[in-house]
Amino acid sequence: MSILNAQNNMKVFKFGGASVNSADAVKNVAEILKNYKEEKLLIVISAMGKTTNALERLCQAYLDKTTDCHDIFEGIYNYHFQIINALFSDKNHEIFEEINSIFKELNIKIKSHPSENYDFEYDQIVSTGELLSTKIISFYLNSSGIKNTWLNACDIIKTDNTYREGKVDWQECMHKTNRLLIPIFEDKFSPVSFVITQGFVGSSPDEHPITLGREGSDYSAAIFAYNLNATEMIIWKDVPGVLNADPKYFEDTHKLDKISYTEAIELAYYGASIIHPKTIKPLQNKNIPLKIKSFIHPEEEGTIISDIDQAEGLIPSFIFKKNQCLVSISPRDFSFIAEENLSSIFGILAKIGIKINLMQNSAISFSICIDENNNKFELLISELKKDYKVKYNQNLELITIRHYDQQTIDKLVNGREIKLEQKSRLTVQIVVKG
Ligand code: ASP
Ligand code: MG
Repeated sequence: MSILNAQNNMKVFKFGGASVNSADAVKNVAEILKNYKEEKLLIVISAMGKTTNALERLCQAYLDKTTDCHDIFEGIYNYHFQIINALFSDKNHEIFEEINSIFKELNIKIKSHPSENYDFEYDQIVSTGELLSTKIISFYLNSSGIKNTWLNACDIIKTDNTYREGKVDWQECMHKTNRLLIPIFEDKFSPVSFVITQGFVGSSPDEHPITLGREGSDYSAAIFAYNLNATEMIIWKDVPGVLNADPKYFEDTHKLDKISYTEAIELAYYGASIIHPKTIKPLQNKNIPLKIKSFIHPEEEGTIISDIDQAEGLIPSFIFKKNQCLVSISPRDFSFIAEENLSSIFGILAKIGIKINLMQNSAISFSICIDENNNKFELLISELKKDYKVKYNQNLELITIRHYDQQTIDKLVNGREIKLEQKSRLTVQIVVKG
């Protein structure tokens, strides 16, 4: 009974790297949280700014034993110390020792001899970003009167041992949530209404840190929301909500005020970078609304993604994928593309681990559109060539338009040569020369 009470009014917030990339950004997060003083919040935070990229470079340098390892380490160290220096005027504050000791461990790690398992080593190093950010923010909030408890996501998010892409063990996560997380909110003597934890990170069955895949903090937040039966989840972004196009490439974008889970999952699937594609399912399964709101204008409404019926009436949304390659595969003896061929082709794709962005078949050929800059491309071509004639075209762009009309198609294709076009009722996908 008491567990149910706690679950009924819990919200999950997620702050991404851009929302905590400087001391001022952290102060802004504190301002936003002050508006939610009456609520119970589980707050999931990513690594600060571009820290994850820097840690990836550190990991590469460590494994390649290159000399810039030290410089990269120092860059990450200085960036975080510059932030805590600006946040904490008391230089004897325990945060300095706390962050120092995290860096000491990282330093020991990169001086040690790496194992053969690249993905394992990657997670041990890269997961440090979220440890640093959440410790800093938790201490800062406490020192500014916003009482909170720091929780190690590794204790709750349990996975298998697929390093770099941990597969969630839902039952274990639920068990840990009930045993370790809910009691924090329910503590009779010292009730806490804010809990801060790392996004992107969990732990493997042998208790090592593991990551859930790049940009996985949204997914972490959705896992927590699911297990807590949260009443809503909010992702705080540097854009006003879900837009119909990426503002990096388009000036004229429109915010979508309300969209269905289906629409959101379709947009994420086709490559809209606004939400991690795995985020929607746990929320949809428990009918938890997801809001995308601006951390710059927190008073504005943003976008609500929920269980609404929405087949029609949406403005066109477009998604671009650059660096695409169109591979066409045909049997050597002019025979039809049939089930056996398709099954062998899919077998090769699955074995190598390549995701298809678009596919189409004709009588004697099967075409797939895939990302070009992945290191598995050459392997794919050589595997396919063992049994098939293979032709490919590089440097293409894949345009996906949801709720298309001819005017939008013409505007986006803009006279370029169309290599392939596929239409369904709501979506058109077009491969054009880059
Ligand atoms: N810090 C991680 C990344 O940049 C996770 C996230 O931001 O969602 O990939
Ligand atoms: Mg990020």
